[in-house]
Amino acid sequence: MSNVVTRPLPSLDEPDTGPFWEATSSHELRYQQCRECNKVVFYPRRHCTNCGSSILEWHVSAGEGVIYSLTVIRRNGHPYFSSILPYVVALVDLDEGFRMMTNIVQTAPEDVRIGQRVKVSWEDYDRLSLPVFVPVVNAVSAKPAEDKVVS
Ligand SMILES: [Zn+2]
Repeated sequence: MSNVVTRPLPSLDEPDTGPFWEATSSHELRYQQCRECNKVVFYPRRHCTNCGSSILEWHVSAGEGVIYSLTVIRRNGHPYFSSILPYVVALVDLDEGFRMMTNIVQTAPEDVRIGQRVKVSWEDYDRLSLPVFVPVVNAVSAKPAEDKVVS
């Protein structure tokens, strides 16, 4: 018997969010858009949050956006999350117009900034993948580097 602590994962059986999670196994970050009023809807729901229509279409995000807000988690009583401390929980504004809560990974928490450009990355599990984000290298540093040029 193993004592490996695993990350809690979402259920694929929930009718509103099931298609979203099933698509993650193909590394597709899906969102919904209302066919009646064009409102972008996220997280996945049965009805439009603007007009109440039930005619929502699925789209696939390009997976890039900007950090709207973040916090660094330094304490967590759950065995899995306490094993990955410290970690970053962030709200990311995707280019298609929706905001999602996620983790920023593969970078030191002190190097994560509001306004930073990020792109989706995937943590793969048996039946789904979790969308997490990594900084887009050079997206922010390109302009300041040019400013340092002295002629
Ligand atoms: Zn609508």
